[in-house]
Amino acid sequence: MSVSGVETETGAMSPEEETQIIDSINKWLERDVRPHVKMFDHADEYPHEIVEQMKELGLFGALIDPEYGGLGLSASTYAKIVEVIASVWMALGGVFNSHLIVAVLVQRFGTEDQKREFLPRFASGEWRSGIGLTEPDAGTDLQGIRTRARREGDHYIVDGTKTWITNSIEGNCLGILVKTDPDADPRHKGMSFLLAEKGEGFTVSRRLEKLGYKSIDSGELVFEDYKVPADRLIGGVEGQGFYQVAGGMEIGRINVASRGVGIAAAALKDSIAYAQVRQTFGKPICQHQAIQLKLADMATRVEAARALVVNAARAYDAGLRCDMEAGMAKLFASEAAVENSLEAMRIHGGYGYSKEFDIERYYRDAPLMCIGEGTNEIQRIIISKQLVARNPV
Ligand SMILES: Cc1cc2nc3c(=O)[nH]c(=O)nc-3n(C[C@H](O)[C@H](O)[C@H](O)COP(=O)(O)OP(=O)(O)OC[C@H]3O[C@@H](n4cnc5c(N)ncnc54)[C@H](O)[C@@H]3O)c2cc1C
Repeated sequence: MSVSGVETETGAMSPEEETQIIDSINKWLERDVRPHVKMFDHADEYPHEIVEQMKELGLFGALIDPEYGGLGLSASTYAKIVEVIASVWMALGGVFNSHLIVAVLVQRFGTEDQKREFLPRFASGEWRSGIGLTEPDAGTDLQGIRTRARREGDHYIVDGTKTWITNSIEGNCLGILVKTDPDADPRHKGMSFLLAEKGEGFTVSRRLEKLGYKSIDSGELVFEDYKVPADRLIGGVEGQGFYQVAGGMEIGRINVASRGVGIAAAALKDSIAYAQVRQTFGKPICQHQAIQLKLADMATRVEAARALVVNAARAYDAGLRCDMEAGMAKLFASEAAVENSLEAMRIHGGYGYSKEFDIERYYRDAPLMCIGEGTNEIQRIIISKQLVARNPV
């Protein structure tokens, strides 16, 4: 089972090859994932076997260059894959999202030695990553983090706490944003990004309980006199971490936006089917105008959200700065997921609230898309700043 049978070279895939990859993913989803989603989600149990299959499919190397053992997919193809996966189970998109953000950071900003050491292991899934930015007292205001890395000879000594970190329990080599110069002014000039392999001084203090996005590990990390070799500093130069992370966020936001489209599309698909079989007052509810209006709005949101994702992914593939495009896609698609999951619940009536249907999961999973990879309030600010920057008078 592998989608890597297709010869890939970044950005150079034919439509037939892309269809072949999406078909393989769809077959896997229907055969190995969909039948088990409710069980894993309701038990809040980690889907080890499914994650192993994701390794075989090459998903952990989706955006890593073939030169380093990855599939080298374009962001456009990647976004389509993320959407189809999220339409079956959004949480799986989180297993490789922050892993790939870190991989992309190494690929873009790492030294050649770092690329050769880390990327093949990330691509195979032997090393599973996640991104450690958020702290108990700093999420949106990342420049306010307190995790400190002090240089001592050829090592850094790290002390601090990170919270809400996806893949932190199952992952083994995480990327962490630290302060190498806490007195720097401006603050971002004192920030660096380190690759932290689990070991002495690096512990997961607790697993966090959540409304949705079940099964996937969200943890709190504690670093106490954690010693990391200095050559794990991405790019080898201190003070670049904030910019490196901001660059990696573009692909992270395209992932979250695609997950939003996946949830919104699944809520629509289930609602179209249900509205044709559920009868009230002697006819299927799809013949009641109130339901027709809902379906029309839901479908329009899906199409608009998908178009924004395509636009952002194209800009990314063209090597353009795309924080505005990715921000718009993430903002609109995540809100579409929230609105469509609630409308699907209304259309399904009492069954929408039942654990026997998927709607209640869409409803619990969707709001995370509005929070993760920068809240939607912050996306609006990014969009607005870029509007002004790109249109000076
Ligand atoms: C399930 C889950 C998984 C996560 N995974 C990860 C992960 O893998 N790695 C990671 O580093 N983090 C992760 N996070 C954390 C997530 O990125 C943060 O929760 C998010 O960035 C918001 O930060 P905060 O929670 O500290 O909210 P705050 O920053 O405290 O914000 C609170 C509110 O104020 C608003 N706000 C803040 N500043 C402004 C402003 N200047 N203007 C307008 N409004 C503002 C925010 O939009 C929000 O509505 C995860 C969170 C969850 C819930």
